[in-house]
Amino acid sequence: MSSEIIKKADRNIAGTYKRFPIVIERGKGCRLWDTKGRSYTDFVAGIAVCNLGHAHPLVAKALSAQADILFHVSNLYYTLPQIELASWLVENSFADKVFFCNSGAEANEAAIKLARKYFSEKGEKSRYRIVAMEKSFHGRTMATLSATGQEKIRKGFEPVLDGFDFVEFNDSKAVESKIDSSTCAVLLEPVQGEGGVRCPDSGYLKAVRRICDEAGVLLIFDEIQTGIGRTGKLFAYEHFEVEPDIMTLAKALANGLPIGAMLARENIASAFGPGAHATTFGGTPVITAASLEVLKVIEREKIVEHCRKTGDYFKERLSWLKERHEVIEDVRGIGLLLGMKLKTDGGAIVKECMEKGFLINCIQDSIIRFIPPLIIEKEEIDALVKCLDEILMDL
Ligand SMILES: *Cc1c(COP(=O)(O)O)cnc(C)c1O
Repeated sequence: MSSEIIKKADRNIAGTYKRFPIVIERGKGCRLWDTKGRSYTDFVAGIAVCNLGHAHPLVAKALSAQADILFHVSNLYYTLPQIELASWLVENSFADKVFFCNSGAEANEAAIKLARKYFSEKGEKSRYRIVAMEKSFHGRTMATLSATGQEKIRKGFEPVLDGFDFVEFNDSKAVESKIDSSTCAVLLEPVQGEGGVRCPDSGYLKAVRRICDEAGVLLIFDEIQTGIGRTGKLFAYEHFEVEPDIMTLAKALANGLPIGAMLARENIASAFGPGAHATTFGGTPVITAASLEVLKVIEREKIVEHCRKTGDYFKERLSWLKERHEVIEDVRGIGLLLGMKLKTDGGAIVKECMEKGFLINCIQDSIIRFIPPLIIEKEEIDALVKCLDEILMDL
């Protein structure tokens, strides 16, 4: 049956995704079911989106309760859920102000625009360039792909937007030497996700913060993947005792509904006055009501602490696998953003895992990325590790 559905999909949907030949029909917690009734333990979580797992009853309830009252009005008016969500984010982060949008790329667009506007308002229009990182990922719009340090993502869309300079991640000296009088900001993911699950070396982010301060340049953290508990802290920057000036969020913020947010300190956010930036759907009542419930559940059920503990356990189990299998080159990551670099292509392993009932993700051809819902339990991790052990044994 699903081959007919897949044919229909391929006839009608733009071919931008290389998809696995399964049709996912429903989910519950860390489990997904396809149209053939097969079930999978989900270690992908919508690419670090569904941190509370699938079909969370409280989030579903908040969503439908708000849908009964009000879907949408223009941002010409105030709405209660948007106010409550912004307040929660301000109370729980370094930031003073929040701008809502609909995706990660849009949040980064807002951050890039704000950095330029901030200096423009100060009469420093020539400060518009941003120092970004090799192997970064910031999105697929024209500005964000221009900020992304991966050739394959920019290819075919040239000329990309002017104003981005690239340096190697984890090289603070390179950041220092790249900054000049035309630089407005440094943009980076505190832990690189898409580019290969790469953690910052000890002291790196602090050094970048100091360099930015000395040069009078803004520091932007893209926490679209690392935020909302994924690394074992609510925001990854908390691990490194460094606060950015601007931070972007999306992915897990509403556990699967489209939302993005750009957070900033007051003195910077004030450069965005009325009319400076806008979006029709940003901060819409239904989605902000759901997002607020997501954050309350995370807080009440101590999901971030659970993530830290299970993340440590998972990493330990992956290191155990590495001891047993020559083909594993490196195990890395933090919290439940973990990577296992192989000396070979990872595609076959992903496929075999799927056949055995586990969804995992492979990036940059040879890095298996594990980004399960943060509610994952040790038993589910043990089952996956056993499955991987068997697959690697036969390799
Ligand atoms: C996913 C991601 C984005 C892009 O988010 P979209 O919602 O797909 O536009 C940007 N930055 C990082 C770090 C991401 O992981």
